[in-house]
Amino acid sequence: MTQIAFLGLGNMGGPMAANLVKAGHAVSGYDLVPAARDAAQAEGVRVAESAVAALAGAEVVITMLPAGRHVLALLDEILPQVPAGALLVDCSTIDVASARAAHDRAAERGLASLDAPVSGGVGGARGATLTFMAGGSAAAFARAEPILAAMGRKAVHCGEAGAGQAAKICNNMILGISMIGVAEAFVLAEKLGLSHQALFDVASTSSGQCWSLTTYCPVPGPVPASPANNDYKPGFAAALMLKDLRLSQEAATTAGAATPLGAEAAALYAAFEAAGEGGTDFSGIIRHLRAMSRGA
Ligand code: NAD
Repeated sequence: MTQIAFLGLGNMGGPMAANLVKAGHAVSGYDLVPAARDAAQAEGVRVAESAVAALAGAEVVITMLPAGRHVLALLDEILPQVPAGALLVDCSTIDVASARAAHDRAAERGLASLDAPVSGGVGGARGATLTFMAGGSAAAFARAEPILAAMGRKAVHCGEAGAGQAAKICNNMILGISMIGVAEAFVLAEKLGLSHQALFDVASTSSGQCWSLTTYCPVPGPVPASPANNDYKPGFAAALMLKDLRLSQEAATTAGAATPLGAEAAALYAAFEAAGEGGTDFSGIIRHLRAMSRGA
């Protein structure tokens, strides 16, 4: 049993903390939102009066927050009070520069840290089937592994500080681009009088095969479990895809990488969100492409 402080008990953090409790760990938690605190308490998390109060006796401190500025602000608040020897694990999806800054601040206090963003969404958080991608020292990763195993199915050590966030945004840039590619192919097929099923049957066994087609097909029918069959209810909301695409563009600009399709994907998801579709599953981008088509 490990004493864990869990800060940020939202859509992802709440069920992740609950799974740590189920695995037999002692979990203290805090969130700014009372409803999130109440939901976590109902799952056996000992809810504290403040983030600092949740740290008492903590051997591991996990953060699951919206963005880099939240992580750095919370670290400034809690770092002086984190027990000596505790391991810091940030599971939020944040920009690489903030992730590296978070590692630096932890190191200044002599604390080990990991950036460990996740993929798998709310379903993965509830079912403890998340994939973690971690950046930090091998020793920090080895310490975190048994804790991550209670919340997910797989944890990959991607490299040094920031490597987890780098892996996350590179993966999601592939996903955003590939979903648009698959959706464009279905829109073109519709214009050419080719059925969804015929395109699926060919492309899913040909060189167009990819996850966006075979697991998350953006038209209803060929893959019954995909959000397209449920009026594009998320799933993975377009606003979250846009967040990750913006992070990858920010990183590409800073690092000097040419990512023209990533930039175009970010622009298309920004337009989709501006049209009021931020809460739609990201595969719903096909509706935006249809609306852009001649004769729409
Ligand atoms: P969320 O908004 O539901 O939860 C974030 C929580 O952090 C909120 O409840 C908020 O009140 C709390 N918070 C903010 N500042 C705080 C502070 N100073 N102290 C304590 N609590 C604080 O968001 P989420 O969906 O749980 O996502 C969390 C992170 O996981 C994000 O970085 C997101 O990009 C990433 N992520 C989300 C998904 C998903 O499908 N929802 C999938 C993969 C990754």
